[in-house]
Amino acid sequence: MKKIIVLSACLILAFCQSGCVYVSTGHHSDRSDRAEKKRAEKKSRSDWRPEHVIFVGFDGLCAKSIRDGADMPTLRDLMAKGSYTLESRTILPSSSACDWASIFMGSGIELHGYTTWGSKAPDLEPRVVNENGRFPDIFWQYHKKNPDAEIGYIFEWDGMDFLTDPAATDFRLNTKDCTTAAVQYIKDKKPNLCGIIFDQPDGVGHNIGWRTPEYMAKILELDGALKQIMTALDEAGILKETVVIVTSDHGGIDKGHGAMSMDEMQRPLVFFGKNVKKGYVIEESTVVYDLAATMAWLLNVEPPQVWTGRPITSPFKTK
Ligand SMILES: [Zn+2]
Repeated sequence: MKKIIVLSACLILAFCQSGCVYVSTGHHSDRSDRAEKKRAEKKSRSDWRPEHVIFVGFDGLCAKSIRDGADMPTLRDLMAKGSYTLESRTILPSSSACDWASIFMGSGIELHGYTTWGSKAPDLEPRVVNENGRFPDIFWQYHKKNPDAEIGYIFEWDGMDFLTDPAATDFRLNTKDCTTAAVQYIKDKKPNLCGIIFDQPDGVGHNIGWRTPEYMAKILELDGALKQIMTALDEAGILKETVVIVTSDHGGIDKGHGAMSMDEMQRPLVFFGKNVKKGYVIEESTVVYDLAATMAWLLNVEPPQVWTGRPITSPFKTK
């Protein structure tokens, strides 16, 4: 009888193991298994840090719309269960390419050189260039330190393609449907760092006006996209090891942006996830270029000297 019990236990164990192996090989290569092991070892040394940082950007989402009570249940849930500020500023000019470049390149236009709304290359000589001939961005810095990490960059506006280093990304997609692509990618690859950048509500802002009923309807729709991304993180089994950052490049007023009214300058900035304080309002000054430094800090990457941004540390419990 004892023998039968032992045999059954062995069989059950073998079945479980083969089940696990099947699931594991179904989704990962040997390379990514090794990378996962490596990350697990690293995690034990500094386990307040997340294994995944997911950056969600909504082009032209103004802080004032949130302050005025925009119907964004998912974003408000992340704010309530995470940390946020509605006073984070962009740089001047408050225009797309230069603002996104500042987010990913950790400095203002004076240093990275992308100075206009649609810059496809530096208009001003970058202060430094790296081994790829580019001003260093967070994607390359992270890739350089962790070549096995899975890095994605999914965007709707084609102008985004010029603002991060293609050599750093394992998956890079310009699509008209960020949501579907991001959900699929998160489930398939469980990225360690992923930028997902929507080109709305900027379009509705330019065509109809910022904070018009149509603009508010669009941001409710975008909130649904955010919900799908959160669900994908949960279903991928990585939500507990993830920090989600939600923000935008600039706000807007009437049918435009680029100038220095607070409607244009202020953007929402929300952190949610692993070791993020709940219901915490970030009081200190934050600027777009602090985000590269913050992502570097979360991912345990040394920021390049040329970056002027500082990590936003107050929302995180590090002990
Ligand atoms: Zn923009």
